[in-house]
Amino acid sequence: MDTNSYDDLKNIVPELYGADVFSDAVMRERLPKSVYRKLRATIEDGTAMDASIADVIATAMKDWALEKGATHFSHWFQPMTGSTAEKHDAFIAPRNDGTTIMEFSGKELIKGEPDASSFPSGGLRATFEARGYTAWDCTSPVFVKKDGENTALFIPCAFCSYTGEALDAKTPLLRSMEVLNRQAVRVLRALGNTTSKRVTATLGAEQEYFLVDRRFVERRLDLMLTGRSLFGAPSPKGQEMEDQYFGTLHDRIGSFMADLNKQLWKLGVSAKTQHNEVAPGQYEIAPIFGTVNVATDWNQLTMETLEDVALRHGFVCLLHEKPFAGVNGSGKHNNWSMATDDGLNLLEPGLMPHENMVFLVCLCAVIQAVSRYSKLLRATVATPGNDYRLGANEAPPAIVSVFLGEQLSGIFEQLAGGEAKGRGPDIKDIFLGASTLPKLPKDMTDRNRTSPFAFTGNKFEFRMLGSSQSPAMANSVLNTIVAESLREMADALEKSRDVAATARELCVAIAKAHRKVIFNGNGYSAEWQREAAKRGLPNIKNCVDSILALREKENGDVLAKHGILSKAELHSRVDIMLDHYIKTLNIEARTCLHMAKRQIIPTVVAFSGQVAGVVLALKAAGAKNGVAASLLKKATALADKLDKDVAALEQKLESAGGEENLEKQAKVFRDQVLSGMNAVRESADALESIVDSSLWPLPSYAEMLFYR
Ligand code: ADP
Ligand code: MG
Repeated sequence: MDTNSYDDLKNIVPELYGADVFSDAVMRERLPKSVYRKLRATIEDGTAMDASIADVIATAMKDWALEKGATHFSHWFQPMTGSTAEKHDAFIAPRNDGTTIMEFSGKELIKGEPDASSFPSGGLRATFEARGYTAWDCTSPVFVKKDGENTALFIPCAFCSYTGEALDAKTPLLRSMEVLNRQAVRVLRALGNTTSKRVTATLGAEQEYFLVDRRFVERRLDLMLTGRSLFGAPSPKGQEMEDQYFGTLHDRIGSFMADLNKQLWKLGVSAKTQHNEVAPGQYEIAPIFGTVNVATDWNQLTMETLEDVALRHGFVCLLHEKPFAGVNGSGKHNNWSMATDDGLNLLEPGLMPHENMVFLVCLCAVIQAVSRYSKLLRATVATPGNDYRLGANEAPPAIVSVFLGEQLSGIFEQLAGGEAKGRGPDIKDIFLGASTLPKLPKDMTDRNRTSPFAFTGNKFEFRMLGSSQSPAMANSVLNTIVAESLREMADALEKSRDVAATARELCVAIAKAHRKVIFNGNGYSAEWQREAAKRGLPNIKNCVDSILALREKENGDVLAKHGILSKAELHSRVDIMLDHYIKTLNIEARTCLHMAKRQIIPTVVAFSGQVAGVVLALKAAGAKNGVAASLLKKATALADKLDKDVAALEQKLESAGGEENLEKQAKVFRDQVLSGMNAVRESADALESIVDSSLWPLPSYAEMLFYR
């Protein structure tokens, strides 16, 4: 099968799908029965890994990988850089006679020892204590990936320090899944469910991204180094025609998407939905949901594959939250629910939600969790790029509220009044007025695009994640805070003589205490800002303040109590996040200065020189020189201003660099450096709109957004 041609894709999809994954089917086929059963027990029931079977598994994996053309294996992990890390080792085991056999041992499968000193640790580990360990996460499948001519077996791993502290995004996520499982099963048992053995969090991560023609990016240092445009006057046309969202796919985009899907399907990523997004040049891809840690790995693979495939098609994929001012930024909608091993979705309301005790208890548990720990949740999406989205006139606001829709809000309000009496307002079918069109059964909730945390039928959609972020931290926290709610409820239910009555009382108490977090209206409106303030909901508008909220006692307590992150691990993460913020802004500011000083100012000087020549020539010829003279005046005035802004930014950057305390330094970058960059941009953009476009050194917004 030639997986590199587009021919007849439809016939080969089933063959292609998961072809490069050491999947359950492959394991069953290639592993001895007893080994397979033991491995499944670890994957499914969380029983401890039996080291004695590792050699057998490793050999089977290696044989399979060699058939796929692999020469190397790589522990694949997620250090706190936001992206993934890999170090490749060849399977070779040379013999004395100068030949080699290909080997891979159980020890190599289970444990790796990358030098950890160059990964962020937030002070958890001094540089001289270089040792770090990677540990195989057998719950996420191993796969083969080809990068250019290099093919390797990728082994999803956790990553920790010599002393066992988590240095990655995956470890806390796996810990949180166990905690959620434990507490959710307790609640299910207490409510009379005797069949479900396990509860897992499920995740479907919708991924937004931009595609820009590679030739433009090559001429934009800002896009290359920072992923966003630091300069650029608005395009005469933006997104106001609303013709991009769900618009027709252009050929070039269609081919890109076909290639992308093919690569993802081979890796077992269930890429399902694709469409044009709101901003010109913006698109979205969404998979079918999966178990949260596997789906998190899929999302990392999706982001990496997007970038690779884009380059092959002459594009650059921008995953930044705000690549272009003036048009929408990109997010990652985190669809989350809880499912049992026997197929029950705990957030499925069914036809009679008011009588569905499991649903009501779980719904209330989530609402209480979000209401109590909204600052913690907000902190999981605190990244420099996300500051341009959250609370900045764009989806969604920085205030964490919950959208329930008409019917569920009705039930929740009844609960707050003491009891859930009825289904809430009836949901009628939709009749479109032409009998040839089908009657549409109406969904239980409308969509509310402005809500940061929306119930969408049988799951919650957390919409605050930035497009470039790993979903790991958000879901670690979500799992944990919901587990904490469920723990409280389980404690009460297990003690109760009348479980149904206690469950009702618990829901009523939550509805009363936390109705303040429910909001079904327009999250972008100024009224909501005022109303939320009245309700006492936090509105943390920037990344730095939000990161610092992680230091608040209750946030550290809940994570430590459930063993997700120790206080030391959490505090190291705060430092890493602040440090990341500072470094991001530092790179942006330096890029901004570089472009202003070496590209924009020289262009304006040359342009002014040309115009000045014209002014002189016109004068010598005795002609009127009104236009040329006024253009010269404008250009030189703006250039002077730009020069001053550049000097001011240099000064601010220097004093920010001198600040030694991390928290203070982050604040100086936020309050001083960012505004300094904005001033430089303002002057430069004003110049762009008067300087001869054939001289301007940077591709324009119109070109970058509309050329495809
Ligand atoms: P929309 O744009 O309406 O939000 P999409 O189809 O783009 O819808 O995305 C919805 C996402 O939610 C998909 O990834 C889907 O698989 C996921 N999803 C559906 N049900 C669940 C569930 N029970 N748990 C987690 N994710 C889910
Ligand atoms: Mg969505």
